Amino acid sequence: MPALHALPFDNSYARLPDAFHSRLSPTPLAGARLIAFNPAAAALIGLDPVEAQRPEFVEYFGGSRALPGSEPLAMLYAGHQFGHWVPQLGDGRAILLGEVAAPDGKRWDLHLKGAGQTPYSRDGDGRAVLRSSIREYLCSEAMHGLGIPTSRALCLIGSDEEVYRERIETGAMLVRMAPSHVRFGSFEVFYYRNQFDRLRELADYVIAEHFPALREQPEPYAALLAEVTQRTARLIAQWQLVGFAHGVMNTDNMSVLGITLDYGPFGFLDDYDPGFVCNHSDRRGRYAFDKQPEIGLWNLTCFAQALLPLLNPDDGEAAAARARDILAGYEPELVRTYAQGMRAKLGLRTEAAADRELVGDFLQRLQANRVDYTTAFRALSGLRLADPSADAPVRDQFLDRAAFDRWAEDYRARLRAEGSDDSARAAAMNAVNPRYVLRNYLAQRAIDQAEAGDYAEIERLRRLLARPCDDQPEYADYAAPPPDWGRELVVSCSS
Ligand code: AMP
Ligand code: MG
Repeated sequence: MPALHALPFDNSYARLPDAFHSRLSPTPLAGARLIAFNPAAAALIGLDPVEAQRPEFVEYFGGSRALPGSEPLAMLYAGHQFGHWVPQLGDGRAILLGEVAAPDGKRWDLHLKGAGQTPYSRDGDGRAVLRSSIREYLCSEAMHGLGIPTSRALCLIGSDEEVYRERIETGAMLVRMAPSHVRFGSFEVFYYRNQFDRLRELADYVIAEHFPALREQPEPYAALLAEVTQRTARLIAQWQLVGFAHGVMNTDNMSVLGITLDYGPFGFLDDYDPGFVCNHSDRRGRYAFDKQPEIGLWNLTCFAQALLPLLNPDDGEAAAARARDILAGYEPELVRTYAQGMRAKLGLRTEAAADRELVGDFLQRLQANRVDYTTAFRALSGLRLADPSADAPVRDQFLDRAAFDRWAEDYRARLRAEGSDDSARAAAMNAVNPRYVLRNYLAQRAIDQAEAGDYAEIERLRRLLARPCDDQPEYADYAAPPPDWGRELVVSCSS
């Protein structure tokens, strides 16, 4: 296992021309200290966990010492924010340290978030506060635990440095890992600058590094658009299945690899409320939970537009027609993934025409009765075909018990029709319906304790959420819907 100073770097993004980034070093934080370390992410780059105990670890990831082989830079991009075009964004507070060549041949970006000002900081201070860094650290690992593509988190560094938000907080740095941090907005920036050569260079880079098979396709750029479209459709279907709201689905936060990126004011559903808006700053509800599927397509349309000069350099009309054709594949893939996931959540082994109605009817009753989304699906696995008294754990969550009973009649009929077995179904359902998700109140408890100097809850949650479908009896409380104070937490863009 390589030691920290011997991590093998292979910095493909840094080899791109200067137009793609700005080289600079992080600005260290005063009083930097290690708050959390994630051995699961360290294993991905073959880093020995004992390295985290060395004093150099905090120097390297607190920005005060350069990792040998790293080539730190801020990435350039632009994006559509809340529907409005912003011609230049870029890493305003994050620095790509470099790409580690992992033992399995994969490469991982080490991205230091909260690393100080960059040429793309605009009016920002380049910092991230401890509160939001803890949320990102925990949520990216929770999403991974749920089997959803996401950036990962290697470690969290805290500090004594004051950072001003609505109140005075302290600055932190998060080492985020992903196979790439290229976003839809990384393409948009060159399209709107009419720098089509750069656009092509970026597309060729992404294809070569991440989708090499597409090079063999007759139209590699069209194939790239198709790949990103399909991945985004599947990602968003997975978010909907687990009740995750991203909160800031701007095109600069959309990964071309189809991974969940840039955790801010995200939220998991407690009560099933499709119109849930997790981001307090999103006054119009643009990024409400149930809008995510259509916003995914809106964002892909922006991405497709940026690719038009590559799809057909000579004929804009033909390029647009080709793009529309490919984007038409989004909805069917999302619907297919969602339907398949919902069948699994309901323990159905076969497909039937009326499944959509069965799912819709259940969700509608959850909504009408303000039932907790996660606990309802989890409790449903206890249902037995011949013994309605076993319905109680799920049935009792409905104010209107009869509403559940009417639905359960259809559900039972459907299960009988496919010869469902109670215990096999329960096991299959419990493997896909999480018992634990990162509810806001759980994250907030870890934040409050960390701000008081106790970091144990962060580690406890990381371990718990790495196995969200396993019953972990010592943490039974963590499956509970929020207490009253936990329903009123306000999360905004400020981070
Ligand atoms: P976000 O929506 O949080 O992903 O951020 C949008 C853009 O604002 C990105 O380009 C960020 O790098 C930048 N940004 C956010 N917060 C700060 C900050 N405190 N200082 C500098 N740039 C920031
Ligand atoms: Mg962002």
